[in-house]
Amino acid sequence: MTHEQQGSSRLDQILLDVEQRVDSILTQRSDWLCRKGCDGCCRRLAEPPQLTLPEWERIWHAFLELSEPLQRTIRARVETLRTQTHGPFSCPFLQHHEGACMIYAARPVACRTYGFYRSRDQGLYCKDIQREVDHRALDDVVWGNQDVVDLRLKGLGSTRSLPQWFRDGSMDSVTL
Ligand code: SF4
Ligand code: SF4
Repeated sequence: MTHEQQGSSRLDQILLDVEQRVDSILTQRSDWLCRKGCDGCCRRLAEPPQLTLPEWERIWHAFLELSEPLQRTIRARVETLRTQTHGPFSCPFLQHHEGACMIYAARPVACRTYGFYRSRDQGLYCKDIQREVDHRALDDVVWGNQDVVDLRLKGLGSTRSLPQWFRDGSMDSVTL
């Protein structure tokens, strides 16, 4: 197995574990706030998405599957993101009308854990979930452990921002 294949396989396992935790929460809480159309977190990123190589590979494949007009839109947004100096940042993959993700099946790990995972010292919730936490409406929730996910992501190698991957991670420099 090549180094890239190992990274992809480790990412598969992380995604599976995250999916199981998220499914478990959703099974217990059918009224959970995170759903299609709720896109506040995609519109108000604290920083441009930071991605490991295996995450970028999936995103790149998903990007290539999109129509050319959509690809042009995304590239233009990525350029805007590259020059933006202050947040909040809006994700280039957000379908604004529907509040949906254009690369949903390939979205990075951070997009899957946000809203369902928390770190040891911080909630890191969006304001809507924070409100519910403040009202103790989510006391019985078994949150995912963000610290563990971060550690496992570190094992996939260093990260680059989305604009950096678009600039550096072309087909020439990444074995896909
Ligand atoms: S994290 Fe917050 S803004 Fe994002 S989908 Fe969930 S409820 Fe909506
Ligand atoms: S990749 Fe998709 S889910 Fe993640 S921030 Fe962008 S639009 Fe939202």
